[in-house]
Amino acid sequence: MPHMTTDQQVLVAGGGIAGLAAALACAQTGRSVRVIERAAGFAEVGAGVQVGPNVTRILHGWGLERALAQLAAFPDCLQVRSAVSGQELGVLPLGDAVRQRYGAPYATVHRSDLHRLLLDALHMRGGVPLELGCELASFQQSPDAGVRVSLVGGRILQADALLGADGLWSPVRQQLLDDGDPQPTGHLAYRALLQQSDLPAALRSQQVTVWLGPRQHVVQYPVRGGDALNLVVVVHGAPDWLRAANATPGQLANWNQQASPAQLLQALGTVAPPLQALIDAVSAWRMWILCDRAPMAGPGEHARGRVALLGDAAHPMRPYLAQGAGMAIEDALAVAQMLADQRRPVASALADFARLRWQRNRRVQQRARRNGQVFHARGVVRWGRDRALSLLGARLLDLPWLYGR
Ligand SMILES: Cc1cc2nc3c(=O)[nH]c(=O)nc-3n(C[C@H](O)[C@H](O)[C@H](O)COP(=O)(O)OP(=O)(O)OC[C@H]3O[C@@H](n4cnc5c(N)ncnc54)[C@H](O)[C@@H]3O)c2cc1C
Repeated sequence: MPHMTTDQQVLVAGGGIAGLAAALACAQTGRSVRVIERAAGFAEVGAGVQVGPNVTRILHGWGLERALAQLAAFPDCLQVRSAVSGQELGVLPLGDAVRQRYGAPYATVHRSDLHRLLLDALHMRGGVPLELGCELASFQQSPDAGVRVSLVGGRILQADALLGADGLWSPVRQQLLDDGDPQPTGHLAYRALLQQSDLPAALRSQQVTVWLGPRQHVVQYPVRGGDALNLVVVVHGAPDWLRAANATPGQLANWNQQASPAQLLQALGTVAPPLQALIDAVSAWRMWILCDRAPMAGPGEHARGRVALLGDAAHPMRPYLAQGAGMAIEDALAVAQMLADQRRPVASALADFARLRWQRNRRVQQRARRNGQVFHARGVVRWGRDRALSLLGARLLDLPWLYGR
């Protein structure tokens, strides 16, 4: 007979950015909430994430303004340059300009610092159990009896609502929607983290720089309060070892591979000397196979009955609008607001959450895909892009629909 824990509460499966943010937001509304996380501990996974004012506004609202200021960097501008010639194509002022326009800053942060920020906030609040090494195996829901979650190892948890914040390869999604695996996008991301103090002065930077090249782009920005520089190189193609292994999409889940500089140089080809100098400064790269799903087709992909999907579980996106973590945090706020009134039936609260969120998440997914095409354009499209950027610059790069309230 499996041991059963019974509690009228929100159960969050997954302790990543989406899961911790949702737990914090639910706890702040007075909801009883509990988090289960498959990993036995939290490692330094990931690299930098950009956090636009649409997201810092939420973090500030949760009382995290000072804590964020201690670990994030706040770049002055976003500069777009040609990866081929090195020429500047356009600039968007960030810093005070964004603070004044949107009432919150544009920040850049290491993923593990953002994760730690949320984790510390949860610990400080107290009263939110977080169980590590605790993996959801399956669930059953019913309108009357709530959600019954079976864990690997046989334990059963009972909850009012289940929030699947279990990432790109979400088992909750698999059971709720049964719509197959995420698909490789055909793009590879090489990532590196450099200590600014190890770099020659000419390569140190406190701004976001996006280098656009044919079938490739590079993004660099400061993290760790400006002490480190995050570098992401995105190129087309599947590496030889991936083809040779004939890997299925499911196998890609853990393929956060170490990659040699030689592999990257071969994929990248010839780039402008200042960019080449930065790439040459890296000794250790990690390579991610970027996967996504088609943009959301309706609210039924966000919630069904007493179960909702948040973050990458619901809407994995290409990183070309820098909003994956952002949309996860927006989801977290929205779901907590909908669940705040505990007299409301859970299924109706989650249906409202889904209606509120799906179109925005779809739009961000679509826009991220389009940005990838524009970033990697060749020929006449590339010429048109560069001309538009030089004429309209900041007007094209600013995104009031995304960053505004
Ligand atoms: C190259 C790249 C650059 C990016 N840049 C940005 C950026 O600039 N800005 C931005 O906002 N986003 C960015 N992102 C995206 C961002 O990292 C993710 O979208 C975001 O972290 C979503 O987090 P999540 O919590 O939904 O998923 P995850 O972080 O994957 O967390 C899911 C958690 O669920 C756990 N889990 C899985 N299965 C189970 C189970 N069965 N039971 C219990 N727990 C389980 C996992 O162990 C994990 O801890 C980028 C992504 C990439 C690849």
